[in-house]
Amino acid sequence: MIYPWLQPALDHWHKQLADGRQPQAMIIHGLEGIGKTIMSQAIVAELLCRKPQPEPCGACQSCRIFASGQHPDLMSVEAEKNLIKVAAIRSLVGFFTATAHSAPHKVAVIKQADKMNLAAANALLKVLEEPPAGSLLILETDRMHHLLPTIRSRCVQLRLTCDASQYDVVKQWLQQRISNVPSQQIAQLLAISPGRPLLVAAMAQEDMASQIESHLNELLAYLTDQKSLVMVSNYLEQNVDSQQWQLLQAIFLHWIKAKYGGDDMKLAWPHAMQQWLQSQSKPEDLILKICQLINTIMVNLNNQTKTRLLIESMLVEVK
Ligand SMILES: [Zn+2]
Repeated sequence: MIYPWLQPALDHWHKQLADGRQPQAMIIHGLEGIGKTIMSQAIVAELLCRKPQPEPCGACQSCRIFASGQHPDLMSVEAEKNLIKVAAIRSLVGFFTATAHSAPHKVAVIKQADKMNLAAANALLKVLEEPPAGSLLILETDRMHHLLPTIRSRCVQLRLTCDASQYDVVKQWLQQRISNVPSQQIAQLLAISPGRPLLVAAMAQEDMASQIESHLNELLAYLTDQKSLVMVSNYLEQNVDSQQWQLLQAIFLHWIKAKYGGDDMKLAWPHAMQQWLQSQSKPEDLILKICQLINTIMVNLNNQTKTRLLIESMLVEVK
């Protein structure tokens, strides 16, 4: 079963096949954490099946080989040390030239296709210029604009999204999947990472919402004179990592957007800090300033002394 928020994209793909428009190359793109790999696996499974309806039958010889994880008509290319080199792309040529073993199609998947270096991208262009009949090449990426325009223009694009209209379905799915996390926390994480359900699932499992909540409590304790500058800057330096600074920033920006309403605001991350900010003169300017200061902190996280100073100056400037 495909994730519920991906169903519309899969339906779109099925319609394309039903209309006899099976492409020979496609790009599956969307935010990190939306489910690109699951989508490409679903498409691959259907193409390898001998009797798809359109879901794979799960019983034919080709489906059984696919389930074992070693299908000779499927090739996967992945980045090594954050890079896809030309040799990996050249191996696709040999793969596509060979006759299919047991499946009706030959399928290759390039994961994180934006990691191709220029030589690899040029080699791929050659493959795309003469696509072998009956085959499909799938490129997965969350950074579409990093692919060469000439590659993008030769591929059909399947964009995966998860908008506000799907939040109820997503919330339900997340609650079933992570039953030990309060639904309020799931909604909070989804509010600041909209369109990335798998990332939300991972964060919920790490108890991220409680950690962020503690960070906000500490910040507020400083702003309302319950804790000293030294105590709070010490706490922030010790406990907030790069991902969490980013999330804090996302919460602040979410509070600005919340003021203007909109569909995205079905989910919220309420906190007393939000009221404190709104009680200040020009709260939006202040929030944007905080976000800028967080940016500077994130850039300097590898330098402990500097980080500490930047955190202190952020606290001083905000109060
Ligand atoms: Zn089958």
